[in-house]
This record gives sequence, structure tokens and C-alpha cells, in this order.
Amino acid sequence: MQIIRAKAMGMCFGVKDALETIDTLSDPQEVSIHGELVHNEVALERIRSRGVTMSAEDERETLSERPRLLITAHGISDPERERLQQAGKELIDTTCPLVKRVHKAAIDLHAEGRHVLVIGQPHHVEVRGITGSLPDNYTVVEQLEDVRDFGQPSLGVISQSTTSPVKSERMLAKIREANPTADIRPVDTICRPTRKRQEAVAELIEKVEALVVVGGSNSNNTREQARLAESRGLPAVHIQTAAELDPDWFRPFQVVGLSAGTSTLDDTIDEVFERMVQIARELDRERKGEQ
Ligand code: SF4
Repeated sequence: MQIIRAKAMGMCFGVKDALETIDTLSDPQEVSIHGELVHNEVALERIRSRGVTMSAEDERETLSERPRLLITAHGISDPERERLQQAGKELIDTTCPLVKRVHKAAIDLHAEGRHVLVIGQPHHVEVRGITGSLPDNYTVVEQLEDVRDFGQPSLGVISQSTTSPVKSERMLAKIREANPTADIRPVDTICRPTRKRQEAVAELIEKVEALVVVGGSNSNNTREQARLAESRGLPAVHIQTAAELDPDWFRPFQVVGLSAGTSTLDDTIDEVFERMVQIARELDRERKGEQ
């Protein structure tokens, strides 16, 4: 059995840098993460083992008693930043520079007097951070059905950094169609690591008979990769660790792909790869014995 790894997969530099900041904290007992940095239990366990606490996304309103708060790679809005500072918190800011770019694009488009359309998930922390810095004049559009005639002379369009490029293009086309007289200015804010990973998994799916995707059970982008494979008729399995691999699952296949969600640690991917290699050897031996 052959195993092909996606050309780009796993943790993006934005989340890696944030984890590195946590790894090098001199006072982890004083620090709490303001929200959820990653949706991956292996990575979260590593953070907990350092003594850093974290608040759940829906518990951000209640501030940790710890004096230092770490802002995650997803960023926060300006008013939220002010709230934390007024509460006397010292902030450790790990906002990804590519998220800062989205914030800037939104603010610039708003300053031009445009109604800002944000393609993304309204409740996602990154989107809340982007729109929270805009005083008014914006709409979040998640699905094609959310697109309508916005009745505005000029529109600015940006995307949550992790939006699929295909989805973003479809949404933009529908926005143009529904607002034929508006002056529309799109700004490409999809981050490069996301784009590369999505291209890599699409390319991989073309070459394999089945796909293994490694990532947290509640990681949306991991689930989406598995769904993408299944939508093309490929069996896909979503696992969190190498221990979950079932050798029997691989029996029907000669070529299997390996990909991972954006919050998966490199070590976890390597462990899964090594286990797959082991399974492949065992299956190959078995198949030769049958001949
Ligand atoms: S913007 Fe891209 S690189 Fe930055 S944290 Fe988000 S996914 Fe990672």
C-alpha cells in the first residue's frame, strides 16, 4: 500500500507562533488564554501541562482572575481590547499578522464609506473580532442564501481568513449579481496557508483511493476535508491520534492519502504517518502471502 502525504497540511504559522509564545512564557501560572487557541485536544493538553489556563469561547465575558491574558491568533476587536485593558489586564498579543490584515481591510473599506460584507461565520471568533471594530455599516454573509440586494451604492467585500477560495468566489459572484448597480470592491483576505492547504487536499484526493485526516474531533476544517473527500466518492476517516487507526479499514486500498487540520501538531501527523507505514508493511506482507 502506498501512502501519499498532502503537500501542505497541519498547523499554520499563526497558531504555531502562538503555541511557541506559550511554550516560552516565563510565568505560565500568571497567564490565561482569552478564548480557545486551537480545536485540538493534543495541543490543548500541551498548553494545560504548562499551567496556562484558558476560557471557553462563550465565557469570554467573564474575565480570568489571572493578571495576564493571551490574545489568540484569531484576534479581538478594538473595543474588546479596550475592555481588557481597562480591567487592568496585561495583554500578550498573538494575533496572526494575516488576521490583522483582514481587520485593516475591513476598517479601510468602511472608511471609504462602503458597506462592508464579511464572508464568514457570524459567530466565529475571528469574524466577531473583525466586525467588532466596525461601528456600523456591515453585514456578515455565510451562505449564498444570505446574499441579497443590500441597497447600498458601494460595497466592500472581504472574507474570514480561512474561507475556501471556491466559496469566496461563488459568494462574490452572487453579490455582484444581486447588486448590479453597486460599486463593489473585493479585497482578497484569505490567508495563504489556508489556500495552500485546501489546494493540497484537493490535489491529493485526485491521486488516492481513500483519505485519512488528522485533527481535533471538533475542528471544522478537519471535518470539511473529510467531507470534501466523501463528496468525491472517497472513503475518509477523521482521527485525532495514531491509536485510532484501524488496520482493517485499509484493506481494500492500494493508495491512501494523509492530510490534517490546521490545528494539528506536526508530531501528531508524524506519529500517524509512521503508524500508516507500519500498517502498509503488514498489509503488503499479508497480500504477498496470499499470492
Ligand atoms: S490567518 Fe491563516 S495563518 Fe493566520 S492563524 Fe488564521 S489560518 Fe493561521
